[in-house]
Amino acid sequence: MVADVIVETADTSTLVLFTGNDRLDYMAGHFLTIDPHQFEALERFTSFLEDMKGKREPPRAYSMCSSPHERYLAVTVKEERYVSGATKYPPLLSPLLVKGTVRGMRLVVTGFTGPYTLVPDITSQTDHVVHICAGSGSVPNFSMLKFALEHHPRLRHTFVYSNKTWSDIIFRDSLAQLEARHPGQLHVIHTLTREENSSLFGPNVRKGRVGVEVLREVMTDPTAPLVYVCGPGISKWDREAAKEKGIAPQPRFLESVLSNLEEIGVPNARIKREFYG
Ligand SMILES: Cc1cc2nc3c(=O)[nH]c(=O)nc-3n(C[C@H](O)[C@H](O)[C@H](O)COP(=O)(O)OP(=O)(O)OC[C@H]3O[C@@H](n4cnc5c(N)ncnc54)[C@H](O)[C@@H]3O)c2cc1C
Repeated sequence: MVADVIVETADTSTLVLFTGNDRLDYMAGHFLTIDPHQFEALERFTSFLEDMKGKREPPRAYSMCSSPHERYLAVTVKEERYVSGATKYPPLLSPLLVKGTVRGMRLVVTGFTGPYTLVPDITSQTDHVVHICAGSGSVPNFSMLKFALEHHPRLRHTFVYSNKTWSDIIFRDSLAQLEARHPGQLHVIHTLTREENSSLFGPNVRKGRVGVEVLREVMTDPTAPLVYVCGPGISKWDREAAKEKGIAPQPRFLESVLSNLEEIGVPNARIKREFYG
């Protein structure tokens, strides 16, 4: 049951879920899935999209923003937008979860799963985790960060977080509070692509994308940290659209960060990644 809906930003909400006495057996970084067929309010859209696409709409994945040591299970959902001329179909589920979910509503969620979790022997592999996220890609990393701050006091974290504007930053206040509560253990750097004067927001707010400069700055020895990258990457739809036009698909956040990490010498085996299509 939805116990609370927290509005994070204009297009993002956290759904706090009350699950009765069910055991919340999940790891920080795991996701659950939500099947759109369970929502009567979506029925006509789901059927129409299935007719248009010629296939059944699959369940959507949502990472937990909560950490296993916390009392409630929670997911954070960013609404996908329909952009006329650019988006082939209107997004189905995220608009309902973000804008149409109210306290007391019941949802069936399935889970928990996913390979994007903290490695069990993390402290024997490193003393520094670098999180590199964009948009809702911060969700599993926020969960892992909270878990690690609770359970691995000797692990330090750098959280590099890319958004369009200052008001798009999900968990902005919570990240600042964690940073204040764990001085020397958590350092947060925001990169903003559409904010003219990003320095107005503080010394750790940069203009532009996550480039090699900021990555070099946070990893003086590129072989030392473990790096967790999460955010949008080239989707199968992007590939199909590019193929139709006879061009290569444009790299998105994930591809560009992975190429920057390679350039500065981070070994591939030290990079964990999760792709949000
Ligand atoms: C492991 C994982 C974890 C995730 N965690 C989160 C999270 O924590 N928070 C979050 O907000 N999101 C998360 N996502 C993304 C989420 O699962 C959904 O993809 C997102 O919410 C969009 O779903 P939707 O139903 O609103 O849009 P969809 O209906 O899936 O549409 C999304 C886009 O795909 C295009 N599209 C869909 N079908 C076709 C088709 N047949 N042909 C061409 N184009 C098509 C649409 O036009 C649209 O542009 C995660 C994804 C993964 C894989």
